[in-house]
Amino acid sequence: MKRFCFIVLLLSLSLCTIGESLGSLITLHKNPLPADCTDNVKAVTNKKYHNEIMQIEKEVQGLIQHGLPELCGYSIEINVFKDPVDLFRANFKSYLQVFKTPHKRIYRIQVNTQWLGDLPPQIALRAVLVHELTHILSYTQMTTAELIELGRKYDKADFQRNYERNTDLLTLRRGHALGLLEFRKWQKSHLSDDEFIKKMDIYYSIEMILAWMKDNPYI
Ligand SMILES: [Zn+2]
Repeated sequence: MKRFCFIVLLLSLSLCTIGESLGSLITLHKNPLPADCTDNVKAVTNKKYHNEIMQIEKEVQGLIQHGLPELCGYSIEINVFKDPVDLFRANFKSYLQVFKTPHKRIYRIQVNTQWLGDLPPQIALRAVLVHELTHILSYTQMTTAELIELGRKYDKADFQRNYERNTDLLTLRRGHALGLLEFRKWQKSHLSDDEFIKKMDIYYSIEMILAWMKDNPYI
C-alpha cells in the first residue's frame, strides 16, 4: 500500500509548475536533429483550445530538435489538466509507465486549461517548457526504483526546493534566463500574493534570476 501511495504521489507531482521561464532564446545547435526525432511528441487535441495545444506541441518539438537532443526519440504526450496554481506539469501517461524501461515509457507534459487562453509570451513559454523537459530528461535517466523514490521524497519541502531549483538552474544554463524572468513576471500577475510567495520559496525568484544573470553575463 505504501508503495502504491508513492507511485500515486509520483504521478501527482506538480513537478513543474508554473514553471519557469525563459524563454528567450532557444539554445540553437549548429546541426539541428532530424525532423523525425520528435515524431513521438504528440498532443492530445482539445476542441476548445486546439490552436494553443498545437502551439505547445510545436514549441516542444522545436526545443528538442534545437536544444535538447538527449530527448530525441522519446515518447512525450501533451494534454491538459486543471489546477489553481500550476501552469504545467511533467509526469507520465499512467503510473504503469514507471515500470517500463526509459525508452518504452510514455512521458507527459500537461498544461492547465485555466490559462490556455492566456499563455505567457513565447520567450517565457519556451523557458517553462525547457524546465518541464528537463524534468522529463531526468526521468529518462532514472530506474523504476529511483522514480518511486523521487515520488516519495518530492513531498518533503527541502528536497522539492533543491530539485526544482536545480531544474531552474539547468534551464538558466541552457540560455533561458530572460524567458524564466518573464515567466516569473507572468506568474506574479496571475497568482495571488500568497500563491506567488509559496512558489518563490521553491523556485528561483526574480531576484535570484537577476543575480544569476549578473554573475553569468555571457550565457
Ligand atoms: Zn519543475
